[in-house]
Amino acid sequence: MSVFDFDVGIIGGGSAGLTVAAGAAQFGAKTLLIEKEPVLGGDCLHYGCVPSKTLIKTAHVYHLMKQAERFGLPAVNVPPVDFREVSQRIRSVIATIQKHDSPERFCSLGAKVDFGSAEFIDEQRVRLNGHPVSAKYWVIATGSSPAVPRIEGLDRTPYLTNREIFSLERLPSSLIVLGAGPVSIEMAQAFARLGAKVAVVQRSGQILTREDRDMADSVTEALKSEGVTFYFDTSVVSTSDLGHDREVVVRTEGGEVKRLRAEAILVALGREANLGGLGLEKIGVEFDRNGLKLDERLRTTQKHIYGAGDVTGTHQFTHAAGYEGGIVLTNAIFRLPRKVNYSLLPWCTYTDPELASIGMNESSARKAGITCSVWIEEFRMNDRGLAEGEAVIAPLVSGLREGDRVRER
Ligand SMILES: Cc1cc2nc3c(=O)[nH]c(=O)nc-3n(C[C@H](O)[C@H](O)[C@H](O)COP(=O)(O)OP(=O)(O)OC[C@H]3O[C@@H](n4cnc5c(N)ncnc54)[C@H](O)[C@@H]3O)c2cc1C
Repeated sequence: MSVFDFDVGIIGGGSAGLTVAAGAAQFGAKTLLIEKEPVLGGDCLHYGCVPSKTLIKTAHVYHLMKQAERFGLPAVNVPPVDFREVSQRIRSVIATIQKHDSPERFCSLGAKVDFGSAEFIDEQRVRLNGHPVSAKYWVIATGSSPAVPRIEGLDRTPYLTNREIFSLERLPSSLIVLGAGPVSIEMAQAFARLGAKVAVVQRSGQILTREDRDMADSVTEALKSEGVTFYFDTSVVSTSDLGHDREVVVRTEGGEVKRLRAEAILVALGREANLGGLGLEKIGVEFDRNGLKLDERLRTTQKHIYGAGDVTGTHQFTHAAGYEGGIVLTNAIFRLPRKVNYSLLPWCTYTDPELASIGMNESSARKAGITCSVWIEEFRMNDRGLAEGEAVIAPLVSGLREGDRVRER
């Protein structure tokens, strides 16, 4: 008989934790899944992919309605958006998916599901709701939260993050988005399409900085054509609450100070791993604010404790969390050594046009010292692009081939 209460204990019931729990339980491991919120599903379901993609679709339909004539349809006089209805649609999509992520479903697969915040007491045990519980292997899958950097006045200025923006009762008439990563840019376009006046403040000269410059710039142009204003090479100096409006003071690279005003601010300046309060310092599990220190088999500095999902601090996507959950299962449950390999990981930013990648792009290939050639094909005059009414903007598709030396255009 095992000396431990469970074969595997999983802390966090989001994309990564649910993958490990479902797999481990179905393969007969005695499995405990711990979640601190009252529901399972994590950020993707409640504050991430699901609400954002639902909102983006609503904004897309509204945008098309306003352009009916471009598609040979009668012009439509479109009334303003009632954001309560939009939030209601988001809640209803979440509620439908929630059933799939119910504790009952995971219990029926053979896992035990407990709610509460777990904290390590020693290398094998956590304290949960005042009681110790032990497992042979532990998986830390506690996800990430919006990083909120120290900005003068921000603690006294109401602002939104991905946790609040999908449940607004009213569409803000104007929105300043701090940051230009995927969350910022998706939300900037969606809110602009729904009728808000949107400005994006970005410290560097490019949005979506992981993407190739020309690809990211084509998305910038698309958003500009829809009325989004960009402040590039601009840093945030301070924020303040003016009552109905908020003020954001920014400074350009050249030193010019500007005062921007909007009804709402969205802070989307990156993510921080949720690793505080787990007692990791006490048990020798090393981490920093980006994530856990992991080897290629996703083992922490305590080899029986694994990390998966956003806590890895590498590719913060739902499908990456699922993939990492599979790596943990193979190593911890099947006892087969398997290393992560992200070389063909796909990802997508769900703007219009969407910007999707698989594996390396030109800039990461060059950073890695790989010489490559680049093919560029515009969708603008492509038959399907024309049929879809995409002719106004010009999305690109490019491809890489390792080992070539020229850059073709
Ligand atoms: C606005 C937005 C849009 C996104 N869109 C996409 C997209 O389109 N496609 C995509 O692939 N990815 C998207 N992502 C990223 C995706 O949501 C995350 O990569 C994914 O949710 C990570 O899964 P996870 O399991 O690591 O963390 P989570 O899903 O956040 O799960 C972690 C869970 O751990 C729990 N927890 C934390 N601490 C404790 C504790 N001490 N004890 C017990 N439980 C704890 C949390 O409550 C949470 O439920 C988006 C993210 C955001 C913010």
